[in-house]
Amino acid sequence: MPCLLLATNNKAKVREYRSLLQALPFRLVTLEEMGIAREVDEAGESLEENARLKAVILSAESGLVALADDSGLEVDALGGEPGRLSARYAGEGASDSDRVSYLLSKLKGVPWEKRSARFRCVIAVAAPDGRLGFCCGECPGLIGLEPQGEGGFGYDPIFYLPELDRTMAQLSLEEKDSISHRGQAAGKVPRVLMEMGL
Ligand code: IMP
Repeated sequence: MPCLLLATNNKAKVREYRSLLQALPFRLVTLEEMGIAREVDEAGESLEENARLKAVILSAESGLVALADDSGLEVDALGGEPGRLSARYAGEGASDSDRVSYLLSKLKGVPWEKRSARFRCVIAVAAPDGRLGFCCGECPGLIGLEPQGEGGFGYDPIFYLPELDRTMAQLSLEEKDSISHRGQAAGKVPRVLMEMGL
């Protein structure tokens, strides 16, 4: 079975992709398993650009087909912030819970009906010979008033899903996969691989 490199150092994302892509006719390998320590700078101007940079560089470095994503949270009351800067919101060295607190402080006093937001994810798949494909997904919700739930990662404890009356952090891995931005994008990966002739 050919290998597909999951080009991310985020362990929570690796866990989600292992579940989301389990039916692919590829053996999923991680950067850690390949002994690749490289961190690619997210220097692009968009999620697409950053996903492409990571996939292309790590495909060249590993000699494997590589899948990378860039994802982020867009909050309408903040003009789309933090967006592609989601991982660095609240500064370098901040933790997930620092970022959650910072975002909540920015939304202090914003009423429930104006707390709309969405997670976006762009996946890039790159082959060592230069072939490239993209897919994207998004998941709408509201920013809650306080963190709830222990699952997931990042902003999940404050990402409230009105239809489920729970936050993303209160869902099982399978429930999150079935509705999340990453789940939506990953569902399109088999078609993209086929279109790339892989
Ligand atoms: P990156 O895609 O590794 O650049 O990370 C984007 C940042 O967006 C993460 O560090 C999280 O803060 C946030 N993020 C992306 N996807 C999720 C998710 O599924 N749940 C919660 N936060 C997320």
